[in-house]
Amino acid sequence: MRLLTARWVFPVSAPPIADGAVAIQAGRIAGVGPRAELTAAWPSADRWELGEGALLPGLVNCHTHLELCHLSSPADTGNFATWLVTLIEGRRQLPLADQAAAAEAGARCLLESGTTSVGEVSTSGQSLAPLLRLGLRGVVYREILGLSPEEAETRCGAARADLQAMQRAARGARLRVGLSPHSPYSLSEALFGACGALLRGTSIPCCIHVAESAEEVEFLSTGQGAIPRRLYPAVGCAVAPPRRSAASPIEYLAALGALAWRPLLIHAVHVTATDIEHMARSGVSVAHCPRSNARLSGGVAPVPELLSEGIPVGLGTDSLASVPTLDLWDEMRAALEIHAGRLAPAEVLEMATLGGARALGLADQVGSLQVGKRADLIAVSAGAVSASDPVGSLIAGTEGADVLLTLVEGEIRHRRLEGVPCA
Ligand SMILES: [Zn+2]
Repeated sequence: MRLLTARWVFPVSAPPIADGAVAIQAGRIAGVGPRAELTAAWPSADRWELGEGALLPGLVNCHTHLELCHLSSPADTGNFATWLVTLIEGRRQLPLADQAAAAEAGARCLLESGTTSVGEVSTSGQSLAPLLRLGLRGVVYREILGLSPEEAETRCGAARADLQAMQRAARGARLRVGLSPHSPYSLSEALFGACGALLRGTSIPCCIHVAESAEEVEFLSTGQGAIPRRLYPAVGCAVAPPRRSAASPIEYLAALGALAWRPLLIHAVHVTATDIEHMARSGVSVAHCPRSNARLSGGVAPVPELLSEGIPVGLGTDSLASVPTLDLWDEMRAALEIHAGRLAPAEVLEMATLGGARALGLADQVGSLQVGKRADLIAVSAGAVSASDPVGSLIAGTEGADVLLTLVEGEIRHRRLEGVPCA
């Protein structure tokens, strides 16, 4: 039995506890409450005193592309299609070994800034190994895309084989393997159909980038705009594949049957009130990436409306090709700023922890400090936390460099703290 004591404990599923403690046994949370109560219950526990620190659940970054960590965001992104073409060209020049090194560096960055669970989209297959090696939790989605209807079956067959190999590699680990049909504009309808056949009757998790930009909305409703004019020629697609038109990207996915896969929808910026009702009925979840959207999407995801419909919403940083850091504390501050006055600090902290866990299908295991859950938790220095507004001041005053300790299932995965033994 190990007892961590700190000036503040933020269980997320319950109000903050001043002068609190968390008990850990065999990788699970055995107790959460006032320090005096827990020390009386377990007087002989191995005790780690965190002094002025705060304990909270490990953060959940529900959307990353760690293989792109060596790319940086262009200062002037231009429109969405132009940014995407720049990204594709940059990625083509990255050798696989560099992508593996980038993913490893990115995964370390996550642990150092307090993220213990991740929703990672892997394009080249290089990010699974470092995530396994470093012991993170979450889902690694194998990306699939392709505009040629004739190649749909071949591409899906390759994805199926990769998924099986990844599942073998991840057996017994904390990572699940999923599929990410990239977006409505980057797969032919035939390839969406093949993905549906692959996913049907399985529990394979799935995520899709959707409603990210005004260009995507324009393309799906009219077939025109920067996507066919700028993006398609850059990826060697001379003739856009036949595609039904739809009033919105969400309606397009619904028409293809893809909402029935209950995907994690990444971005969901350009969604209507009707879309939100449809999303809620379909049981999807959303990865909200406020900093990425502020640069590239030309809009703000209607997060308060999504939450009020009961849709699970998590926070994601997206890749370093669109934002400057993988630090979820930066993302929390951006969310508060962008949704000024429409989201409370407690809602934002919940999105960065329990909401993300719900979005990734992990809420029965992690996301809050509750007895029985896995001991994925972090300690941060809490000098800035005020009794009058503990959560607001925690978010305002904390950054990745303030993370003192990161535990995954009770194991030390990052430590910047005297007096705590090495793992
Ligand atoms: Zn993305």
